[in-house]
Amino acid sequence: MMQPIVIVGTGLAGYGAARELRKHDRETRLILVSRDDGASYYKPDLSEALTKGHAPDDLVKKTAEAMAEELDAEVRTHAEVSAIDTAARTVTVNGEALAYRDLVLANGAEPISIPLAGDGVDEVLKVNDLQDYRVFRSRLEGADSVAILGAGLIGCEFANDLANAGFTVHNIDPIDWPLQRFLPEAPGRALESALADLGVDWHLGTMVEGVQRAGDGFELSLSDGGSLNADLVLSAVGLRPDIALAESAGLEVDRGVVVDRELRTSDPHVYALGDVAEGGGHVLPFVMPLMNAARALGKTLAGESTAVRYPVMPVIVKTPACPTIVYPPRATDGEWTVSGDAPDLEARYLDAEGKLDGFALTGEATGKRRDYIKEAPPLLA
Ligand SMILES: Cc1cc2nc3c(=O)[nH]c(=O)nc-3n(C[C@H](O)[C@H](O)[C@H](O)COP(=O)(O)OP(=O)(O)OC[C@H]3O[C@@H](n4cnc5c(N)ncnc54)[C@H](O)[C@@H]3O)c2cc1C
Repeated sequence: MMQPIVIVGTGLAGYGAARELRKHDRETRLILVSRDDGASYYKPDLSEALTKGHAPDDLVKKTAEAMAEELDAEVRTHAEVSAIDTAARTVTVNGEALAYRDLVLANGAEPISIPLAGDGVDEVLKVNDLQDYRVFRSRLEGADSVAILGAGLIGCEFANDLANAGFTVHNIDPIDWPLQRFLPEAPGRALESALADLGVDWHLGTMVEGVQRAGDGFELSLSDGGSLNADLVLSAVGLRPDIALAESAGLEVDRGVVVDRELRTSDPHVYALGDVAEGGGHVLPFVMPLMNAARALGKTLAGESTAVRYPVMPVIVKTPACPTIVYPPRATDGEWTVSGDAPDLEARYLDAEGKLDGFALTGEATGKRRDYIKEAPPLLA
């Protein structure tokens, strides 16, 4: 009997690949393995659930059982894949070997931890899945203030969401303006001041060095010598593809698990997509890239080899205080030019030849996104 296709992970990437496969092939046995409860949810919802009045349970779209039925698949929950044997074509699941025809790694990323001193470090929360988010929401009960480490996408979105819900929010990051990695200064400042107007207390250009318990909450010591108090500490300093499993199986890894245009790793029967993968030098930890990858992979696994294409995929930052859309440039030899009046700004990144390579829009200017999407080059044609 033909061995099954095995997918590691039931996030948007794992379930996305399974759904796409089933559009072309309902016959091949399919097994999804997840160390969590296998509930299907839309992860971006986590950073706007307070504003929308959603409890964690409201975010579950389908249980693992319902997904198994929809996909005509077996979904093994609370099942950890600890090893891959590419020669034998087996994975070890909760200590037992499971054979595969083809294996799909969709095991996501791990939140980065920055080194911190103090007796409160173990209490610092991180949110990268629904289970983390349940813990975060239960800890928010009775809290008034939250200190967020990191002014990147996730840190800014949680800052906006918590401030909307009436929490006192501190945000600490050594960068000079929020989203500095993506945005030039003017739109970054527009976002900074919109969130400040909402009550976010910025501590930019400084780092958290320690988290000490203080009463029922915490005292954070900063590298500029300052300190602040908060009832809860949330670390949102970034994610790193979880490459350990692939690396120990001898698969080629760089920042992520390296894949070609067909999402194939260095082993011909192992594929990867989503937050764990790196293709063409890009790690793209967003929904649109993984959906495009899932579409291509679904066909490839069904026998029709298909290369992934990435169109213009701007990132929509969920900060309603200052709507922000950014398509980060690929070129490094160009320059940003900004026009408009804050907070309604258009930032164009022109490459050395003067062609639009990336853009950022804030406020009312986000209404022009369609024109920009037409003009900008696709990430991978
Ligand atoms: C708060 C937040 C807001 C976001 N907002 C946006 C947004 O607005 N727009 C956007 O485009 N992107 C957003 N993102 C990013 C986007 O959600 C992710 O890129 C995407 O959900 C990643 O999906 P994934 O399936 O690759 O990984 P994950 O969802 O992390 O899934 C990984 C899966 O692998 C399983 N797993 C891991 N290791 C093992 C193992 N060893 N054995 C078995 N199972 C394992 C896990 O249990 C899980 O099921 C956001 C992310 C966060 C955290």
